[in-house]
Formats: sequence, C-alpha cells, structure tokens
Amino acid sequence: MIPISKPLIGEAEKKGVLEVLESGMLAQGPRVRRLEERFAQVCGTRYAVATSSGTTALHIALLAHGIGPGDEVITTPFTFIATVNSILFVGAKPVFVDIEEETFNINPALIEAAVTPRTRAIIPVHLYGHPCEMDAVMEIARRHDLIVIEDAAQAVGATYKGRPVGSFGTGCFSLYATKNVMSGEGGMITTDDEALAERGRMLRNHGMRRRYHYEFLGYNFRMSDLHAAIGLAQMDRLEEFTARRRKNAAYLSAHITGVITPRVREGCEHVWHQYTVRVGSGRDRDAAVRRLNEAGVGTGIFYPLPAHRYDYIRAVVGDVHLPVAERLAREVLSLPVHPGLSQADLERIVEAVNRL
Ligand SMILES: *Cc1c(COP(=O)(O)O)cnc(C)c1O
Repeated sequence: MIPISKPLIGEAEKKGVLEVLESGMLAQGPRVRRLEERFAQVCGTRYAVATSSGTTALHIALLAHGIGPGDEVITTPFTFIATVNSILFVGAKPVFVDIEEETFNINPALIEAAVTPRTRAIIPVHLYGHPCEMDAVMEIARRHDLIVIEDAAQAVGATYKGRPVGSFGTGCFSLYATKNVMSGEGGMITTDDEALAERGRMLRNHGMRRRYHYEFLGYNFRMSDLHAAIGLAQMDRLEEFTARRRKNAAYLSAHITGVITPRVREGCEHVWHQYTVRVGSGRDRDAAVRRLNEAGVGTGIFYPLPAHRYDYIRAVVGDVHLPVAERLAREVLSLPVHPGLSQADLERIVEAVNRL
C-alpha cells in the first residue's frame, strides 16, 4: 500500500538524536533555540517559540493574547479538531464561518457578518498547505481591531503574495510526525511581538522567567532537544521536500481525470500537505476509498465531519448550518503526495483514480 503520509528520516535525523542522547542533556536546550531561529527565518518573523505540539502552540497563542471566557473567536469548521479545541481550552467560544469551495479555507466574505462586540480574534487555517485570503482577513481584523492567529500547522513554507504564512498574525505550526517537516511531536509560535514571545516562553514553562519564580499560572508545554534535533535535520530539507510535493501534485493534476482536482489561487504558493480531490456531489466516496485501497493506494479523509457537528462542540455553539463545509466534508478524498513517492507510485495512483 502506498501510504497517505510517510516521514522521510535520514542519517542526519539519526545522528542528531544520537548526539543529544550522548550529551546527556535531553530537555529543552540549545537545539530547541536553534530550531526556533530556523523557523523565525523561514517565516520572516523576529521571534519563534517552540512548544510540545501544534495544539499547545495554539493554546499558548490564545492565552498569550489574553483570550478567555466571554470572548468569541471566529474560525473555520473545516479543520483538524485542535484548532477548535484550543479555543475551548481557554474558555472562549468558537464562532464558525463557512468555507470557500475553491480552496477549502475560511470564506472572508462571510467573516464580517459573524463579528459581534465579543469577538476578539480570527483563526484562519491554511488548510492542506494552501494559504487563506490573508489580505481580506487582515483588513477585517484591522477594521474591527481583532487579533489574528494563523493556524499554519499544515503550511510551513507556504506564501501569500510572496509573504510567508505565520508572519501576518501570530503563527502556529505543528511538527507532528505526518506534517511537512516534523520532529515526531512538536509545535512553534511565530511573531514579531517581543512581549508576546516572552509571554509564550513563560506560558510553556510554568509562568517562569527566573528559576522557581512563578509570575502566573503556566504549563509544561516545552519541546525537548531530542525532538528539536529531528526538526533541525528536517528543516535542512524543507525546500527539497516542498519541491517534491509540488512536483508530485503537478503530476497528479496533469494526469488525473474524473474527479475534481485541487486548484491553487493566484498569488499563493501551496506546499501540498495534502492533495485533496473531490469525488463530486452524489458520488459514493466510501466506494471510491475502498477501490483505491484495494488497488494499493492509501487515502485520507480530512475531515469527515465539520467541527460544528460534534456533540461536545454543538453543546457550545448550538445548531449552526454551514452548507459548503458540510457538503465538501462528504466529497473530499486525499491522495498520497508526500516526498517519498516514486514515479511508479504516482503512475499507480493516477491509474487507480482514473479507473474509478
Ligand atoms: C496537526 C494540526 C494541528 C495540531 O497539531 P499537533 O501537533 O498535532 O498538536 C492543528 N491544526 C491543524 C490544522 C493541524 O493540521
């Protein structure tokens, strides 16, 4: 079976981990700092703060911005659940805005109608590695004095009009094992705001600036140097990985027929965390998945249910109807696009899809 994702682990990752083991210093240390510097470079931000996961990056970013009970945060329902859970962790209320059919991202034309006096922030998600319409999002945020926290967990290296994602608002990234660059588990916050970066560093470490001097309630959301060693080796290959994903996506789009292939909006550099087709409305996606899997092609459904349809979230937001997200959740099907694919793999994927 051609897997839907597969981390590429080379000698550099192994050597990096061994060096940390041999140093005897496993916890957060110099490699975490170096990984932070690399992320800040890639994102063009002054600061980056490493965390234990993408989820804790979002959680800390919300806390560092002072978002909490009574506040509303506008986001997309068509995302990995961590986006929404982080809003719930801080006691705020998610407010869902429907998505664009073309990019699967939050529809900026619908955001303003969702703004209330309680709205504090917008979390756009650069889903599958395709940047959101950031000009429109930032303009709405400016007009209503809202914080923007970008969920860029799937989009390291993506750019919108030449500018890296994670540099428009406060950026949150994931280094989970299946993401475009990974450290096993890990996350990163990017920002130009020195005070915010400092609050982030304290929140990830028990609210501590000076040793055993706790200034507020914090957490243990640190990254270890073991993880950072893997992440550093991966960052060396980010451009190569992204180029291979782009090449794979271009091949699939040039040869796949019979399903709706993904589009890239002008001005956006997509990094293809996922290559997601739509089977079309009324067609049996489950059957398509079965047949692809039988032909040895791994698939993923990201995501089978929009966030507002889960019971524990419905209990908070009530019954809302978001027709585009609900329809696309029934139609989407992701195919392997990762940098480990061979030409034979690509041909096998195309053949299996075109036979559906
Ligand atoms: C992976 C992901 C996260 C969470 O990252 P973890 O490192 O798994 O905690 C958040 N948002 C999106 C869109 C993601 O894909």
